[in-house]
Amino acid sequence: MEAFDKFYKKTVEERRAVLAEYANLNEEEQAFLASTGALSLDKANHMIENTVGIYSLPLGLGMNMLLNEKKYVVPMAMEEPSVVAAQSSGAKLIAQNGGMKGTATDRKMIGQVELINVPDVHVAKEKVIASREKLIAIANGAHPSLQKRGGGAVDLQVRTAKTVSEETLFIVHLLVDTKEAMGANMVNTMVETLAPELEILTDGTANMRILSNLVDEATATVTCRLSPLSLATKTQSGEWVRDRIIAAYEFADADIYRAATHNKGIMNGIDAVIMAFGNDWRAVEAASHAYAARTGSYKPMSKWSKDRQGYLVGELTLPMPVAFVGGSIGIHPIASLSKKIARVESAKELAMLVCAVGLTQNLAALKALVTEGIQRGHMSLQAKSLAMTAGANAHEIEQVAQFLQESKQLNVMAAKAYIATLRSKK
Ligand code: NDP
Repeated sequence: MEAFDKFYKKTVEERRAVLAEYANLNEEEQAFLASTGALSLDKANHMIENTVGIYSLPLGLGMNMLLNEKKYVVPMAMEEPSVVAAQSSGAKLIAQNGGMKGTATDRKMIGQVELINVPDVHVAKEKVIASREKLIAIANGAHPSLQKRGGGAVDLQVRTAKTVSEETLFIVHLLVDTKEAMGANMVNTMVETLAPELEILTDGTANMRILSNLVDEATATVTCRLSPLSLATKTQSGEWVRDRIIAAYEFADADIYRAATHNKGIMNGIDAVIMAFGNDWRAVEAASHAYAARTGSYKPMSKWSKDRQGYLVGELTLPMPVAFVGGSIGIHPIASLSKKIARVESAKELAMLVCAVGLTQNLAALKALVTEGIQRGHMSLQAKSLAMTAGANAHEIEQVAQFLQESKQLNVMAAKAYIATLRSKK
């Protein structure tokens, strides 16, 4: 990992050379990184409808991640400044404290069949439960290769819910071990195949037959523990910083307006990794926010407290419907590259890594917010973004950004005026 020292100070070309060596990238893979459109137009045209071009994003590397005693270089694709920097600094602090600990449950996705107009919910429930084995077998028949991989449909549950008009809904959950895939298509196929048999058993009509994105049977949990000493700043004691971070968590726990921002900070890191790995970030977003509201009120996803020794303890559990195969993973060259860069070997490992990035982002943001405030760290990248928005060319960006910071005028108008002055002098 020494090769990555002061990575942020290197040029893009130098960084690529370091990465190529570290991840043993072949020429084709290096070419993907060097191009602004690693995804070919031909592939893109087969991925979605009405394709007209490629939308590119920066790919950065989060440094210093130590999770379950393994070091990771974390690929992150996103447009927002400061997230990668926060990742590297937060991970460094956590690594200095022994790193992150992570676990992941066995991964079961949930498929739902909603049955309407069921005449007797109690009778229907008994019949469905009595036919459990047969129903699971029907589901597995719809995607037999999954069982051959050691997965497949493994359980079935019956739930009811009341509509606003007090109508009882009859819902069947099919639990499917999707192994290394996210499993949406597999589960959707299974529940669609299962629906006719459920209609016969319940005497009802199948309406919705689709995966639930609240995948609370496939979660990952990460924790970290930091000494107060490591949290101290030049002007604040570690105990003070620790207590302020806990107070910030308590604010998010008590106030939904803060909880939304607390959680957005966590998703900043999570989405960026999910994107880099070619996974479905909408699925992870939906799962995470639904999980945060599972008690009936929307809560912070992470928790911060202090233990008996006075250490700051951070915890994060989230549903992680991530995949190692399937979807666009085998299609987008950067998704394959990300696996190689991060040296991740399975969906479970990816789930823990993604969660660890979320908690790291959270720590970095909370620490900055309770100490110097978020803007100081953001300023230099924000100034560069403003310079680019105002039309600065590659040779002008640094100079314009420096002017904006020094003059404390972080706005596009000031940037435009300064660019005009610069150009008039030429
Ligand atoms: P795929 O349809 O791509 O299925 C996964 C594929 O991976 C299968 O063809 C399977 O092969 C193959 N595979 C290879 N190795 C393994 C392994 N070890 N374990 C499991 N599968 C393996 O994707 P998913 O079913 O995972 O669906 C994900 C996609 O569905 C995403 O693109 C998502 O955006 C989208 N989606 C999401 C929805 C939602 O979130 N609500 C709804 C609908 C779609 P084999 O067939 O031989 O088993």
